[in-house]
Amino acid sequence: MFESLSDRLQGVFANLRGKGRLTESDINEAMREIRMALLEADVNFKVVKDFTANATAKCMESDILDSLTPAQNVIKVVMDELTRILGGTDATLELSPNRIPNVIMLVGLQGSGKTTAAAKLAYLLKQQNHKPQLVACDVYRPAAADQLETLGGEIGVAVFRGDGADPVAIAKAGVREAVDNLRDVVIIDTAGRLHVDEAMMTEAENIRSAVEPDEILMVVDAMTGQDVVNVAKAFAERVDFDGVIMSKMDGDARGGGALSVREATGKPIKFVSSGEKPDSLEAFHPDRMARRILG
Ligand code: GDP
Repeated sequence: MFESLSDRLQGVFANLRGKGRLTESDINEAMREIRMALLEADVNFKVVKDFTANATAKCMESDILDSLTPAQNVIKVVMDELTRILGGTDATLELSPNRIPNVIMLVGLQGSGKTTAAAKLAYLLKQQNHKPQLVACDVYRPAAADQLETLGGEIGVAVFRGDGADPVAIAKAGVREAVDNLRDVVIIDTAGRLHVDEAMMTEAENIRSAVEPDEILMVVDAMTGQDVVNVAKAFAERVDFDGVIMSKMDGDARGGGALSVREATGKPIKFVSSGEKPDSLEAFHPDRMARRILG
C-alpha cells in the first residue's frame, strides 16, 4: 500500500533538498509533482485540490522560504497536510459506560471485509477484557453466517445467528442474547450488496432504529481506490455512520481510497485491518500513517 506514492514523494523531496534555497517557482513545481503523485495514487480530485492549495499557501509563507532548512520545512508542511486529510487526531470507539451492552453495527458493501472485521473487532475487544457477542444478520447469504460462526469459534467469541428471514428481529434477539449471557458489547454484522442499493440501505436503517447502536462503523475496502468515496457518501447520507474500518491495508493498492475517505465524507477512520489473522485489526493513527507514507 502507498509504495508508489511514497517513492514519488521521496523523489520530490530529494529534489528540493538538492536545491538549498527555494524560490516560489521551486515550491510550485514541487506541488505540481505532488498533485500528480496523489492523482496517480487515485486520491479523489477535490481532496487533492484542497491538499495542494493548503500546502502551497503554507509553503509560501516567508518564514519557510527564508529559513535555513526550507526543504525540511516543506516536508513538514506536506506531512501535516497528509495527517490532516487522514483525520488529524486519533478517533477511537466511543462506547457508553452507562449502557450495557453497547451495540456496534457494521455496514458496507459485500466483499468489503465486514464479516472478517466483525470477528477481528470482537477479538480486539476480548483482549481489552470485554465480553463481546457477535450477531450474524446477513439472512441472504447463509455462508456469511457460517463464516462468522467459524471465525467466532476460532477466537472464542459467541455468535448469535437466530433463525428466520428478518434481520431486524435477529439483531434485536442478538442484543437480548447478550443481555441474558452478561456480554457487554454486541457486534452486528449486517448484509452487504455488491453495489449500493435501496434495499440494503433501508435494511441498515431499520436495524439501526431497532437497536440504536452506540457506534456504526462502515467497512471500506482499501483496494477499491477512490470509488469508495461515492459508496461512503451514500452510506453517510442514509445510515450516518460514526467511523470507518479500512480493510485490506496489507494489499498493494495505490491507497487513494484510504487517503480520500476522511476528507470526502467527514467520517474518521477508526481502525485499519491488514490481513487474515484475528489480531490484525489496529487503531488508526493519522500521524503514523502520514509518516509511513512519507517514508
Ligand atoms: P464481507 O462480504 O464484507 O463480509 O467480506 P468478508 O469479511 O467475507 O471478506 C471478503 C474477503 O476479503 C475474504 O476473502 C476475506 O478473507 C478477505 N479479507 C477481509 N479483510 C481482509 C484484510 O484485511 N486483508 C486481506 N488480505 N484480506 C481480507
